[in-house]
Amino acid sequence: MNELWKLLRRFVPPYKKYFLLNIFFNILSAILTLFSFAVIIPILEMLFQMKEGHYVYMSMADGSLKDVLVNNFYYYTQLAMENWGPSLTLAALALLLVFMTGLKVGTSFLSSYFIIPMRTGIARDLRNHVYDKIVTLPISFFTNEHKGDVMARMSGDVSEIENSIMQSLDMLFKNPVMIIVCLATMIMISWQLTIFVMILLPLAGLVMGRVGRRLKRVSYESQNQWGRLLSNIEETLGGLRIIKAFNAEDKMKARFHEGTQRFADMSNSVARRTSLAHPMSEFLGTLTIAIVLWFGGSLIISGSSNITAPSFIYYMVIFYSMINPAKELSKAMYSIQRGLASIDRVDKILGAVNPITDPASPRKIERLRGEVRYNDVSFSYNGEVQVAKNVSFTIRPGETVALVGQSGSGKSTLADLLPRFYDVQSGSISIDGIDIRDLKVYDLRALMGNVNQEAILFNDTFYNNITFGVNNATREQVEAAARIANAHDFIMASENGYDTNIGDRGCRLSGGQRQRVSIARAILKNPPILILDEATSALDSESELLVQQALERLMENRTTLVIAHRLSTIKNATQICVMHEGSIVERGTHEELLALNGYYTRLVHMQQLGSEASR
Ligand code: ADP
Ligand code: MG
Repeated sequence: MNELWKLLRRFVPPYKKYFLLNIFFNILSAILTLFSFAVIIPILEMLFQMKEGHYVYMSMADGSLKDVLVNNFYYYTQLAMENWGPSLTLAALALLLVFMTGLKVGTSFLSSYFIIPMRTGIARDLRNHVYDKIVTLPISFFTNEHKGDVMARMSGDVSEIENSIMQSLDMLFKNPVMIIVCLATMIMISWQLTIFVMILLPLAGLVMGRVGRRLKRVSYESQNQWGRLLSNIEETLGGLRIIKAFNAEDKMKARFHEGTQRFADMSNSVARRTSLAHPMSEFLGTLTIAIVLWFGGSLIISGSSNITAPSFIYYMVIFYSMINPAKELSKAMYSIQRGLASIDRVDKILGAVNPITDPASPRKIERLRGEVRYNDVSFSYNGEVQVAKNVSFTIRPGETVALVGQSGSGKSTLADLLPRFYDVQSGSISIDGIDIRDLKVYDLRALMGNVNQEAILFNDTFYNNITFGVNNATREQVEAAARIANAHDFIMASENGYDTNIGDRGCRLSGGQRQRVSIARAILKNPPILILDEATSALDSESELLVQQALERLMENRTTLVIAHRLSTIKNATQICVMHEGSIVERGTHEELLALNGYYTRLVHMQQLGSEASR
């Protein structure tokens, strides 16, 4: 209950207008229900031919509102009886019942009508919140969380929230109103009976609550399992090539089937518990009705009650109208338990803290020279293994420093520290003498361009992929950038030129073409600082030449940190740092390092051997 209030307070405020309209029509609908059923009393009285007295018209001054209304209603009924006869009067009363019920269901529809935009709106807000959060969270968050699970939270859990909580909102607001109005009427008819009812109902509620509590936990686990399944699908789609090549289809199938089986088991448990709500409340409801029927009936038969038989029947009708909302309310509470489990899962994302923050009083670089300095930098992903150990080097404005070393020696990690994808554990990185943690993250990243081994492109046109990092670029600028990147020719040769869609992640392009598009993107952004992480290593030698040319044009006059295992890329670097297990073990120019006859020389030999073998 408490959690639910917190939830409503969090999401409902923007929809106050709809909320109030919904409440208004709910109250109206509840009151109309009472009046429509009240018509039953005179009908019953006529059937049993109970009313004997003679009614005279009362004006407002003659009694309380209720008395006047009741009296005049009977007065007109009597008048109709005298003029039209009992049969027609009965028909008129029945018509009145139909008309009142029409009004009642009309207002009931209006109350739902106004809650629907709130329901869909909240689901939309939630999706947007989660997406916005995903985009701002640091890369480290996603190495710990499975992509599929994040997707499950964004799609499955938000839908679950929409379906369970938001669907229940309607009932949640409507039913209490109905219950209160009914109870009030029941007290007015007979407070003695109502006290009796009040003792019975909470007992029934207690039984219901017991079952509901476990539901949330089971539901939470089943959603987690769904997340695992989605991760599995994600992985499968990404690795289909390998699965086939290694004949691992059966293995993958078995793994997936095991997961779906577990999910099915959990779903059974959840669904069974949820469907318990209805029969149980039905049974408990009928039980209370039976008890009240017996209790009230005996009172009337023994003559010790102050209500008439038709009033008692009206009382029972109202009571019955209250049981239904009570049933729905308990059903809603059950659904909400499921939704709350999903909310917890979504909140795991929404509540994740981003350790990469802007400083309280950020500094600005007025005129950038572009000097990058790593100062005694150490870093570890897990707090145990040091991936970078006391690394220091300086890239002077416009110059190039190359990192070389075996795979796994920490080169990419060092490069990721510069745009603050991760923060250093000790030491510092500075640009023009200013610690990068003293700059706004946005300003810092605006200074940099990245080209990586895997060119990351989006399912969009060439044009939009190239202009990805800049706003308001002209067509000429885009084409110029593509020309420098050696991309213009093959773009123009494609179906619609720059407006050709490149497919999911650029799958319709070759590796070299993808890389040249990503270089064009970096050229257009025109960053003063450049990070190239094995930009040519995935390419064959022919496209490497084109990409190499493009890169060299890109590197002109920019401060560049380049990581490469092809020596051709780095021979011209001002300084080459040789990494080994997180430390820089040698540094110097190509010739100086060769003269040392150490790690670098060995790397060069390995590469020459490797490239000879592959040609
Ligand atoms: P390189 O680019 O030189 O091949 P990396 O910087 O990618 O090397 O990796 C250095 C070390 O850090 C490796 O031992 C690798 O296993 C580890 N590593 C890389 N990325 C992560 C990560 N996201 N979480 C934990 N360890 C990582
Ligand atoms: Mg790497």
